[in-house]
Amino acid sequence: MNKDVFDYFIKGEKKYEVIIGLEVHAQVSSNSKLFSGSATKFGAEPNSQVSLIDSAFPGMLPVINKECVKQAIRTGLGLNAKINNNSVFDRKNYFYADLPQGYQISQYKNPIVGEGKVLLDMPYGSKEVGIERLHLEQDAGKSIHDVDPLNTYVDLNRSGIALMEIVSKPDLRSPEEVNAYIKKLRTIMRYLGTCDGNMQEGSLRADVNVSVRQVGDKNFGTRCEIKNVNSIKFMQMAIEYEANRQVKLLDEGKKIDQETRLFDTKKNETRSMRSKEDAHDYRYFPDPDLLPLKIEQKLIDDLKKTLPELPDNKKERFMNDYGLNSYEANVLVSEKEISNYYEEVAKLSDKKLAATWMMGDLFAMLNDKGLNISKSPISAKNFAELVQSIKSGEISGRIAKEVFELMVKSGDNPKKIIESKGMKQQSDPKELEKIVNEILTKNKDKVDQYKSGKEKLFGFFVGQVMKQSGGKANPQLTNEILKKLLKG
Ligand code: ADP
Ligand code: MG
Repeated sequence: MNKDVFDYFIKGEKKYEVIIGLEVHAQVSSNSKLFSGSATKFGAEPNSQVSLIDSAFPGMLPVINKECVKQAIRTGLGLNAKINNNSVFDRKNYFYADLPQGYQISQYKNPIVGEGKVLLDMPYGSKEVGIERLHLEQDAGKSIHDVDPLNTYVDLNRSGIALMEIVSKPDLRSPEEVNAYIKKLRTIMRYLGTCDGNMQEGSLRADVNVSVRQVGDKNFGTRCEIKNVNSIKFMQMAIEYEANRQVKLLDEGKKIDQETRLFDTKKNETRSMRSKEDAHDYRYFPDPDLLPLKIEQKLIDDLKKTLPELPDNKKERFMNDYGLNSYEANVLVSEKEISNYYEEVAKLSDKKLAATWMMGDLFAMLNDKGLNISKSPISAKNFAELVQSIKSGEISGRIAKEVFELMVKSGDNPKKIIESKGMKQQSDPKELEKIVNEILTKNKDKVDQYKSGKEKLFGFFVGQVMKQSGGKANPQLTNEILKKLLKG
């Protein structure tokens, strides 16, 4: 990506900066839909989770699902946001075959959650991204165009599922920041249990708003909105393409039309869908079937008390209590299960060494096997034992890798493996001294050479000790003893 705007910006030699704001649609973790009792299970038989409300039979009335409201409040609290005691459900009117009501119930002027903020850890420091609002709305059904060449089918299983739309301020400045932002939102919601964050299943999608402006400009440029992108990689590709397209237009002296665009993942380009609709096109009005949503302060306060320790706080604690650096702490709090595993290990072993081995060998192995840490073939307790064996000098780092492999294969604890395979490091000073003395006696000539100044021979002696001990001599101790005895 040489010719592209981010390069220009970073080098400071060109004139453009990218401005990005996201509207993230996060599916609420809830067994039933926002206004009906239908199930929300992913992958169910088409149209098997559809009630008369979801299919908009005349006369059916929506009833708000209190669990979904609580989830939105919990998410708002996790985003350090203001929870509004009064909010309103509005109808957003448009026609589409997979929207049987002819309108989507959403929130417009009075959302349930107001301004908040999210902290990102970027290589250049921490960065705050403003949250504009979070509102509740229904999902639409799904049109299926690729099953039959002549017909389009409609699956209404998603119709009426609760979504939280989380709108960021236009605070993001690069694809990397977008990556960090989505991951952070996902982590927070997974800690809270309010959205599973599963992008393959469509639980997290985003509309990506992109504009560019000359560096130093105070005003924003005209934005384009790329609809419904469902992977971080595609978001990043779409932003790159779109920013470059806009820069090119501006460089040619042309202007940017405010548009809604789609990202074609096969061609890696964005294409115009329609000129951007204005809010008045949707004829928003309060839904007469639903009362305004009144939330007692007590409910908010009670929910606040149920919040788990969130990633930012946990990170801070990991740094303070376990002496981890910012990077390590970040990685280890990225998933609740990972942080739990780490804490279990850290309680039983060296905290720093545990972090290093977890982020190295353990993660590589899990990644390799496509396993979540909760399915790790090595239990936290056994892992801690391995770390302690390294720390105490019982085995060397090199041997530890072998033990680790055997632990993965057998699920056995490291003590048993080390004993049964005789892998223990030779760390008994008396035993080692015996070996060293033998070596020195056998190589009197070399000892004399060493003493008269040929210090390079030290490596030779170490090598001999290693050979004699079958590679098990503790290297540090070997050095110490050799130095001591060669002096004498
Ligand atoms: P709409 O529904 O019209 O898209 P929203 O308020 O829901 O409006 O969302 C607007 C989104 O666009 C926000 O995420 C905001 O940060 C972002 N945004 C606004 N202006 C710009 C801009 N000039 N460049 C990039 N993003 C912008
Ligand atoms: Mg929008």
